[in-house]
Amino acid sequence: MGQKDFPDLSKEQLEKIVLDVTQFGLSAGLVMYPPAPFSNYAPTLAPITIFPTPFPRKQFEKSLAIEKIYNELYAAVVSEYKWLTCILKDLSVHDKDFTGKLWNCYLQALSNGIVQDVSLALVRSDYMYDELLGEIKQVEFNTVSVSFGGLSPKVGRAHNYLNQVGLYGQVSNESYYSSNELPISESDENLAKGLYSGVKYYNEKYLSGENKSIVLMVVQPNERNAFDQRAIEYNLLSKYNTVCKRVDLPDVLSSIEIKYDDKNRLFYHGLEVSVVYYRSAYGPSEFEMPDTWKSRTTLECTLAVKCPSLLTQLSGSKKVQQLLTSKTVLAQFLNNEKIAEIYDTFCKIYPLDDSEEGKLAKELAFSRPQDFVLKPQREGGGNNIYKEDIPVFLKTLPEAEWEAYILMELIHPKNHKNLILRNGEILNDGIVSELGIFGSYLFDEKSGKVLDNQVLGHLLRSKTSSSNEGGVAAGYGCVDNLYLY
Ligand code: ADP
Ligand code: MG
Ligand code: MG
Repeated sequence: MGQKDFPDLSKEQLEKIVLDVTQFGLSAGLVMYPPAPFSNYAPTLAPITIFPTPFPRKQFEKSLAIEKIYNELYAAVVSEYKWLTCILKDLSVHDKDFTGKLWNCYLQALSNGIVQDVSLALVRSDYMYDELLGEIKQVEFNTVSVSFGGLSPKVGRAHNYLNQVGLYGQVSNESYYSSNELPISESDENLAKGLYSGVKYYNEKYLSGENKSIVLMVVQPNERNAFDQRAIEYNLLSKYNTVCKRVDLPDVLSSIEIKYDDKNRLFYHGLEVSVVYYRSAYGPSEFEMPDTWKSRTTLECTLAVKCPSLLTQLSGSKKVQQLLTSKTVLAQFLNNEKIAEIYDTFCKIYPLDDSEEGKLAKELAFSRPQDFVLKPQREGGGNNIYKEDIPVFLKTLPEAEWEAYILMELIHPKNHKNLILRNGEILNDGIVSELGIFGSYLFDEKSGKVLDNQVLGHLLRSKTSSSNEGGVAAGYGCVDNLYLY
């Protein structure tokens, strides 16, 4: 099947679309808070695209088909304790500010006593479609606080609505796309399903009879993306009869109680917590108060299943992703068949250390910077260094500190025309997109046994092609959905 062009619409038709998609989105809760200072009562439409963006169907299907292998891989990485902890220990020397501090939290938790070996990961594997290669390449694998699973289905529904009521067609009342070309993610329901796998495990193992437990969602104060999180909370209640309570990370210590005489059960205002779900604790700025580190360590030593545990969070380091691009390393974790299925989604990623590869990378960073992105061990967008900025940046650091970074080949995403609707304004620009696939795995960190492994849905985020980064909350991008061709 050939690819349809974007529909060519008149000014009047566009005005109608903007009004209708805004009202649909506000009705559906496709909303965010504007940048601070904001009122808790005045959210606005989240930044979205007006049209769904073309994406090759085969590549989309592939990204879904390999998600369980990625889940299995990252579960195996955590249970390969010696391998992972050696890397993290090294990394914590070079990246003292964040990896180092999380690593120290882990060491502290270890010496206090970790009583729960089973942990849960809600993850998102991100890809771009490389138009030169004609295939998807992985940008990164996120193991903590993955977002937009709650909003993605709503953009899919909004685009489907516009299509069904005939607003995309030049002839009114006709659908421009067929419905199987506009898939709707089920990640809002499914992320709740992923969380519930942890709740169910805990309830069956530690609770008797009709006793119930809650999920404790640990969030950032003044979270702009609260509605994305709420969608998961509401689905957890309506589909899985499980209450989810929100607590700001800085308030954790004052609102919890731990029964140290009985397995370290965790209670939040008297309610037993089966799963601690972090939508926070992934950036250094959150840890400016000493209480935050203490909260992270304290929760780690409770019986509740952590989503994620410190080790699972740290397994998502960019450094681990770089090491996994070696087939020898991968062979520790996956059989050849599975390696073959995921291997061509890897980009070339180099360390910046004293190894042969590292030496080559140090040369490349200066001779061909335009082909690379330099990444520190950080999450949440806005931290990378691109192209010609790389040599300038590296020169500001002593060479010994370069090891805290990885050098990754740039992917060449396909440029599409689309309209971005943001703050009531329309941006008519070329965009590039990043596909995220949500997954979950519940596993025993010691034995590596995977108790539950699921694919939970998709997300398409787009940004103007002139900008390097695509964080929606960070203000760089918008939520989109796919038109499969
Ligand atoms: P973070 O954990 O902060 O989200 P990412 O690795 O996802 O870090 O990088 C942030 C953004 O930078 C991505 O969303 C993407 O837009 C861009 N980016 C990252 N790696 C590449 C790459 N190899 N090629 C092109 N763009 C990239
Ligand atoms: Mg990330
Ligand atoms: Mg990212």
